[in-house]
Amino acid sequence: MEKKDIDWGNLSFGYIKTDKRFVSNFKNGAWDEGTMTDDAMVCISECAGVIQYAQTVFEGLKAYTTEDGHIVCFRPDLNAARIEESAKRLEMPVFPKERFLEAVDEVVKANAAYVPPYGSGATFYLRPVMFASSAVIGVKPAEEYQFRIFGTPVGPYFKGGAKPITIKVSDFDRAAPNGTGHIKAGLNYAMSLHAIVTAHNEGYAENLYLDPKTRTKVEETGGANFLFVTKDNKVVTPKSTSILPSITRRSLVQVAKEYLGLEAEEREITLEEVKDMAECGLCGTAAVISPVGKIVDHGKEIAFPSGMEKMGPITQKLYDTLTGIQMGRIEGPAGWVHKIM
Ligand SMILES: *Cc1c(COP(=O)(O)O)cnc(C)c1O
Repeated sequence: MEKKDIDWGNLSFGYIKTDKRFVSNFKNGAWDEGTMTDDAMVCISECAGVIQYAQTVFEGLKAYTTEDGHIVCFRPDLNAARIEESAKRLEMPVFPKERFLEAVDEVVKANAAYVPPYGSGATFYLRPVMFASSAVIGVKPAEEYQFRIFGTPVGPYFKGGAKPITIKVSDFDRAAPNGTGHIKAGLNYAMSLHAIVTAHNEGYAENLYLDPKTRTKVEETGGANFLFVTKDNKVVTPKSTSILPSITRRSLVQVAKEYLGLEAEEREITLEEVKDMAECGLCGTAAVISPVGKIVDHGKEIAFPSGMEKMGPITQKLYDTLTGIQMGRIEGPAGWVHKIM
């Protein structure tokens, strides 16, 4: 297959329109059979539920070329399961898991020319999204929905290696204790925009959000879960009902236990104890792990012993092992790497 003429190494994390996307519509209580289309535009009522009341959920996963030349994606079954939970919480219909997985394969196959070659550092980012397409004016769930999966090639998250970032403890809250923080919904991002622009203007790369009830416990950033390494080499991740269950974080915890023989624990982590941690990273599909060098809490600096030059040693091992599994250099647990072609 002939690849598109794209400068893979210089791609940014942005949208490029590709050839084909999958679209299925929900009407009269059922999903239609769905179709692959060239049409990247969505045409809906000005009064659509998504436009008026933000009734929309999404996913993010990557397809990439392995060392032996196959195109694969990573644990898409977990994205299918997660969007089901997200849809239910926003009173949206569930798009069946098997059909979600088939559609991922179809979109990747139809856009194989856009899947970056092995070793380029770039990947093909897939965006499944579901939104309320019919008109609502009184506040209630819509009657009609669209489910769509499109993809776009994206560049390596860190050009020239991952440098540790400095983040701040935010004065804003991300999610209410019994709210929607655990689902992947656009509404959680709309309200984070002011907080992230504020952090960027102050020179920080990201926000650390605290639990809104007590403001003493670490939750997550706008789009990535925390992972800490203690001074006795234990991997600890925050436990909270209002953080998004990151597939990358859950995979890294399993890698820590099964591949690196480390102890790993999901538990509540107070901001107070963060100063005693040896390493800190942010986990998500886009970067796998972004190392954190420093956290600033209202002028008080927490500098991790791993420093501002490179990832901490355990973080690096976790990163190398998980990306090794993803790229086919290391044998992963059964079902983690899904071969598409
Ligand atoms: C998507 C997302 C993550 C990362 O999840 P992955 O499955 O690892 O990509 C973390 N936090 C939030 C708020 C997210 O939306």
